[in-house]
Amino acid sequence: MALVVQKFGGTSVADASKIKAAAQKAIMRHQAGDQVVVVVSAMGHQTDILVDLAKQISDRPSAREMDMLLSTGEQVSVALFAIAVQAAGYKAVSLTGSQIGIRTDSTHTKARIRSISTDNVKQLLDTGAIVIAAGFQGIDQNGNITTLGRGGSDTTAVALAAVLNADLCEIYTDVDGIYTTDPRVLSDARRLGSISYDEMLELASLGAGVMHPRSIEFAKKFGVKVVVRSSFKDMPGTLILAADQAVRRPVSGVALAKDEARITLEGAPDQPGSSHSLFSTLADSGIAVDMIVQNVGQAGRADISFTVPEEDLAEALERTTRVAKAIGAAGVSHDGEMAKVSVVGVGMEAEEGVAGRMFSALSAEKINVHMITTSEIKISVLVGRADGPAAVRAVHRAFALEAAHGEPASSAGGPLPKSSPLDVVRRLEGMEDLAIEDCLLDSSQALLTFTDLPDTPGVAADVFEEIGRAGLLVDMIVQSNPRDGRAEISFTVPAASREKAIDIAGRIAAARGAGVADVPHVAKLSITGVGIRSHAGVADRLFKPLADAGINLDLVSTSEVRLNVIVAAEHGARSLELLRKAFGV
Ligand code: ADP
Ligand code: ASP
Ligand code: MG
Repeated sequence: MALVVQKFGGTSVADASKIKAAAQKAIMRHQAGDQVVVVVSAMGHQTDILVDLAKQISDRPSAREMDMLLSTGEQVSVALFAIAVQAAGYKAVSLTGSQIGIRTDSTHTKARIRSISTDNVKQLLDTGAIVIAAGFQGIDQNGNITTLGRGGSDTTAVALAAVLNADLCEIYTDVDGIYTTDPRVLSDARRLGSISYDEMLELASLGAGVMHPRSIEFAKKFGVKVVVRSSFKDMPGTLILAADQAVRRPVSGVALAKDEARITLEGAPDQPGSSHSLFSTLADSGIAVDMIVQNVGQAGRADISFTVPEEDLAEALERTTRVAKAIGAAGVSHDGEMAKVSVVGVGMEAEEGVAGRMFSALSAEKINVHMITTSEIKISVLVGRADGPAAVRAVHRAFALEAAHGEPASSAGGPLPKSSPLDVVRRLEGMEDLAIEDCLLDSSQALLTFTDLPDTPGVAADVFEEIGRAGLLVDMIVQSNPRDGRAEISFTVPAASREKAIDIAGRIAAARGAGVADVPHVAKLSITGVGIRSHAGVADRLFKPLADAGINLDLVSTSEVRLNVIVAAEHGARSLELLRKAFGV
């Protein structure tokens, strides 16, 4: 007998007949002899309707009351779902978050799960009932109702699957699996048979709305086997699993985050404490910052650019302006009309030319790239908002993602074994706490920087195409936000390829009236774990000890599972020591 958690999204329970059809899926599992826990979202657009109602009454409704309000959506749908199961002649019990025992912190509207008690659910399952759990909600230690953030029912489902040690977590939705990009944006998108936790984490947090990113954090940490499939068609769906079980592709998918904003702290004193002051102030307000780029300082001054979701722009601007004054920076600029396009693939690390191909595709469409950051498994570019969809199309085509590359189509829930929980899970106090696994030092790379590049479409393409053609494996790439029509691009290569890289870079720079600077040996420090970007303030926890020790950062890159910084080679060992201490590893 297996234990299966099934989750039905809003569209899948939008009306009475859809609820009855979804209930049949749960009943079928139950008839097959499995224990079934069902997690249900609010019906259709009910959550949006409730948000809209509150906004009609107040511009700034309190977060506590919003949670009280929004949690009602799921309370309605679980009751109806249980009624549907019972009407078909089976036992069912619906439970709210508090009745299940989902304890969260008190961050209303984006609470994190601390613990889930399983007693009640297990007892009910043992009586032969199908348990219907309200998604997206919990209670804090004072008994207040909390919600997990929009789309959070996925997280309820995977977290329940984790604590119940379920054999499978099925996410039923209005698409038949995870696609190479949003199939509603690009009809050429192709369904993937499987995808790794890390890739799904990146795609979800970089804009692929199909899964709540935090649900994949749970899946990875606790080794939950997840399958995403259609509520309406009988199709195998997409398995989300550990990297060693998934197909390794250079690029698995493209994500678009269309509501991004860019802020630049201009002319900040180029000294260790600048980044720390800025990012600690932002972290205090819980703003998750992405694409952090600092250009190489000139005359003791540097620009620090970063992106935030557009909804956080006003608050982030206010805080950045405050920091600018405090540290004596030249000023603050911003652009609220940006979009972030990212390609994600666990195999890109080992393949040269991936970045070049992406940038060329954008250049061919005359799309200007404002900023670039990369991590081991993703490349993100910032473009004007209007260019977002065209950029996705161009990049998707460039990697021929519409074509199946002879991959086996997975059979969902098939014979693949479950993964085991990560070791780090044992050290966590709250289930959703930041999980830092390790701190690493890599001293094998050289750093090259183009300075004063003209800010025209195609610069990055020319650079990285040629470098890719020469067979050089580029690790980190960072392009700063252009100022006065000039941009800066930094990248790292293995120190052994340095001569070759300087030769190519020198030629490209000369043809464009740009300069090249190089550091023969740098130290790359990486913090690895789960939840690194979704927990605000991780970057700052890394900046602070280094700033306190007077160590300057040359490059930074963030992802969900890794935070990398480049420092001067001579600071490598000391930085590693400081970071190990700061993160307790
Ligand atoms: P639910 O209400 O079931 O939780 P969501 O609307 O949250 O459903 O998620 C499903 C939607 O996610 C799809 O309708 C699709 O438009 C969108 N989506 C975005 N990126 C992807 C992707 N890479 N693969 C599949 N769907 C995607
Ligand atoms: N009903 C909530 C929302 O619309 C949670 C969910 O559907 O996942 O955001
Ligand atoms: Mg959803």
